[in-house]
Amino acid sequence: MSKFCPKCGEELVDSARFCKNCGASLEGIPNPHQTTAGEYRVPVVEDDHKIAVIAGYVLAILLPLFGFIVGIYLLTRNSQNARKHGKYVMIVAAVLWIISFLL
Ligand SMILES: [Zn+2]
Repeated sequence: MSKFCPKCGEELVDSARFCKNCGASLEGIPNPHQTTAGEYRVPVVEDDHKIAVIAGYVLAILLPLFGFIVGIYLLTRNSQNARKHGKYVMIVAAVLWIISFLL
C-alpha cells in the first residue's frame, strides 16, 4: 500500500520520509493504516492522575468510604479524565456501599 504527498499528491511508499516528486517532508504525516481521517487526534499531554484513578477503583471496591474520598479528590482535579473517573469511582463506591448494607 502507499500514501500520498500532502503537497503535490504524488503516490509514495509507506516508508518514504520525503516526496520523491517535490521533496516535501512527510514527517508527522499519519500512516493511513494506523489512523482514519477525522479520527486522528494529537495526544494531549495531560496529567490523568492514573494512579489515583486506579487507587480510587480499588478503594471503592474494598473500602467504599475511602473510595468516596479518592473520588472527591479526582473530581476536584483540573483534568477532564480525572473528573470523569472520579465520578465513576464515586458511583462504584455508592453502589457497593448500598450493597454492603443490603447483604
Ligand atoms: Zn510531493
